Amino acid sequence: TPPKMSFNYGGGGSKTGRVPVGIGGRRLRIVVTGGAGFVGSHLVDKLIGRGDEVIVIDNFFTGRKENLVHLFSNPRFELIRHDVVEPILLEVDQIYHLACPASPVHYKYNPTNVMGTLNMLGLAKRVGAKFLLTSTSEVYGDPLEHPQKETYWGNVNPIGERSCYDEGKRTAETLAMDYHRGAGVEVRIARIFNTYGPRMCLDDGRVVSNFVAQTIRKHPMTVYGDGKQTRSFQYVSDLVEGLVALMGNDHVGPFNLGNPGEFTMLELAEVVKEVIDPSATIEFRPNTADDPHKRKPDISKAKELLNWEPKISLREGLPRMVSDFRNRILNEDEGKGL
Ligand code: NAD
Ligand code: UDP
Ligand code: UDP
Repeated sequence: TPPKMSFNYGGGGSKTGRVPVGIGGRRLRIVVTGGAGFVGSHLVDKLIGRGDEVIVIDNFFTGRKENLVHLFSNPRFELIRHDVVEPILLEVDQIYHLACPASPVHYKYNPTNVMGTLNMLGLAKRVGAKFLLTSTSEVYGDPLEHPQKETYWGNVNPIGERSCYDEGKRTAETLAMDYHRGAGVEVRIARIFNTYGPRMCLDDGRVVSNFVAQTIRKHPMTVYGDGKQTRSFQYVSDLVEGLVALMGNDHVGPFNLGNPGEFTMLELAEVVKEVIDPSATIEFRPNTADDPHKRKPDISKAKELLNWEPKISLREGLPRMVSDFRNRILNEDEGKGL
């Protein structure tokens, strides 16, 4: 049983009584949890640009105020420092739930996927808001089916080093579906494949940010294992389009949101070298435990039902993150700690 609240929500009804003014003339009030992070901040830009009111909830675990500072003077924008593991009362139309320590070096520390998702579903239930969960391709584990369709149930080690993330997101999907079936909450589930772009955390150990930062710093790119494992890399603006399309649509999902272009880590290193610095080098390092051997989304379902597909290839997307990375690395070097 979910833990009980120690205070009264008030109201208890479903709608807020507020008259919204957004989409097609109706402005929506939208919560983005994890909105100070990489994906979240790009999503917030899109929603604010569209004319909606946005409330970001973030505890700055991996997110940064700098990702949102350009919105601070916007009256339709609000930023709340809050850990979603704790309950919160808000009156909103939609919830994009992104809060999550999203990289292997961070995600073991935190029960966000379970407690945070439960709280946001409780909130959605109370106010009758639509709820979108950003799940992950990691729910497929080390997949035995390739490419992965949404119907595949996955191959996940429940007690491994990554399981806090994999199983945490699987539990989050379960909770979302339970609230959908049991409490009638309108949920949407996105299974996001590896995504990159400006504002990615510089040092959370993901492969694209590592390779790009290493190349800018003139360090060798660290290839783990033999470098023959594959991933499929999606540019962040394509993902944001997909998330907004999913929220605006009638289908619960889950939907794979990713770019089907598949690369080995050695090929990725080649592309980084080609587009950022031809003199870049690589060095091999031992791989981490339970590393999935390959991953590539089958996106037929999103294409058909959401009319969505990614538009930006790896060679087009990588150069777009370079100036942001260069500036932040430069600022770091100057001791500004940005
Ligand atoms: P990120 O680390 O940049 O963003 C996550 C944000 O959540 C950060 O701002 C962090 O401070 C915040 N956060 C973490 N725990 C919190 C808590 N308990 N309360 C409040 N805020 C909290 O990561 P991202 O890449 O932007 O990921 C966003 C979402 O997309 C995550 O749910 C992640 O699992 C999912 N996802 C991302 C990718 C990817 O490749 N980027 C792939 C699959 C899924
Ligand atoms: N919750 C919240 N804000 C709300 C409503 C609920 O944070 O506006 C949280 C609360 O912590 C609760 C969880 O969501 O534990 C699940 O709420 P629900 O009403 O579904 O469960 P219950 O409180 O009845 O166990
Ligand atoms: N990887 C790598 N060098 C790095 C960081 C990661 O070769 O500096 C590899 C890692 O072993 C994995 C792949 O890149 O096979 C993707 O890792 P990432 O953490 O970016 O994403 P995920 O494993 O969650 O898909």
